[in-house]
Amino acid sequence: MIDEKQISEIVRSVLDSANIHTSCGGNCKCKSKRGVFESMTEALEAVQKAYTQYRQYTLEQREHIIAKIRELTLNEAEEMAKLGVEETGMGRVTDKIIKHQLVANKTPGTEDLEPRVFTGDRGMTLVEMAPYGVIGSITPSTNPSETVICNSIGMLAAGNGVVFNPHPNAKKIANYAVDLVNRAILEAGGPENLVVSVVNPTMDSSKEMMESPIVKMLVATGGPGVVRTLLSSGKKAIGAGAGNPPVIVDNTADIAKAAKDIVAGASFDNNLPCIAEKECFVFSDVADQLIRNMCDNGAYLLRGDQVNKLRDIALMEKNGKYQIQKDWVGRDAGKFLKELGIDADPRLIICETDANHPFVQVEMMMPILPIVRVKDIDEAITLAVAAEHGNRHSAHIHSKNIDNLTKFARAVETTIFVKNAPSYAGIGAGGEGYTTFTIAGPTGEGLTAAHSFTRARRCVMVDGLHIV
Ligand code: NAD
Repeated sequence: MIDEKQISEIVRSVLDSANIHTSCGGNCKCKSKRGVFESMTEALEAVQKAYTQYRQYTLEQREHIIAKIRELTLNEAEEMAKLGVEETGMGRVTDKIIKHQLVANKTPGTEDLEPRVFTGDRGMTLVEMAPYGVIGSITPSTNPSETVICNSIGMLAAGNGVVFNPHPNAKKIANYAVDLVNRAILEAGGPENLVVSVVNPTMDSSKEMMESPIVKMLVATGGPGVVRTLLSSGKKAIGAGAGNPPVIVDNTADIAKAAKDIVAGASFDNNLPCIAEKECFVFSDVADQLIRNMCDNGAYLLRGDQVNKLRDIALMEKNGKYQIQKDWVGRDAGKFLKELGIDADPRLIICETDANHPFVQVEMMMPILPIVRVKDIDEAITLAVAAEHGNRHSAHIHSKNIDNLTKFARAVETTIFVKNAPSYAGIGAGGEGYTTFTIAGPTGEGLTAAHSFTRARRCVMVDGLHIV
């Protein structure tokens, strides 16, 4: 005879294996969320235990786990895209599906860990990339599950365990991703709780994570506040901070293509990505042509007084400075227009402004692109560099003039610089190179991958193993 409790356990296990969460439909803090703990203390203890076991795993076993994470991410990309938009109210489902596919397909695994070897008369010295240990990772609301999965792949490939403290406004979708990663690890024969999180992330849980002796490295993906906090932690820290990417269009560019590419990049996931074009500087003699072509490719041109009305919806003034209205971040362009009494649903709103307009200067993460006319490349570069605010994050240009391309790249000094393509080519979507959702400008790792989450260890053999 089996009792009621045993029956319910069997039912739960069958539903779990089919990925049907019994009490939440995959969208709450139900028991079947693997790796998600009520308290940070429990989460830290669990990941420490799992990491100790994981240290014994071979590279082949790590790669097996990563392959499973890729598979489940592709299978559940649509589900995560929908949950992300539902919980945060930000972004577009179709674009979020692409972001998850990009993470699954183009985030490097163990192949990224390249050893170095020195050989000579005195033998051989080997430098290998070893795990850091347990890594504490703080993730944003703008790419919540994408960042959890991308960081997990890189950090696990490097042999680490991971504890996440996700953005509170995106905790359900981030924890869905933590659960997915744990399901993949278990299916691939790995230890439980190698990647953990908390049901309710707070500043207190973040502080406990940062101060725990269990955590050996910290990674922050977000705005300037969190990067500053991490850098003063006294631990090895990787900071992936804010951007405000300008795009320049000169009069040698293929204007029709530039217009199409800029609308595609600036409207992607409603401008949430930190790399997305956020203000445009165009040579005056091609400005009308660019704007006309943008309108032919899904942009809506706002004029006159409507621009200031839009400013008052998207931003608020405090002590003479403009700040974003957080409730409007990542909303559809059609929602802004509806507020202005306009019945249209374009991918992007464009408008002409001067270079000091808050639309140019503030990182808004909304599908609104200000366009500033400039007389030549020097004026374009001066204004674009000023608008980037020294973040050294991303900048883009459409031009066939090698001198202009080179001059801007040198002046702006960004981690990502895309020429003649939508901004997302910079993270491997339609461009060469791998993907990451943690772009570490402030601390200089650049586009992070497995190698970023390692310690270099040197092993020296004197007068041996040198064979020539
Ligand atoms: P946010 O800065 O509000 O939050 C990011 C994370 O940091 C969250 O988990 C939040 O809870 C935490 N946090 C914020 N302040 C903190 C503090 N003082 N101490 C500890 N934790 C803190 O950012 P967001 O709105 O979620 O994301 C958008 C921002 O992140 C934009 O500025 C964007 O450019 C940036 N971003 C950068 C990258 C990158 O790779 N460089 C990627 C995505 C987003």
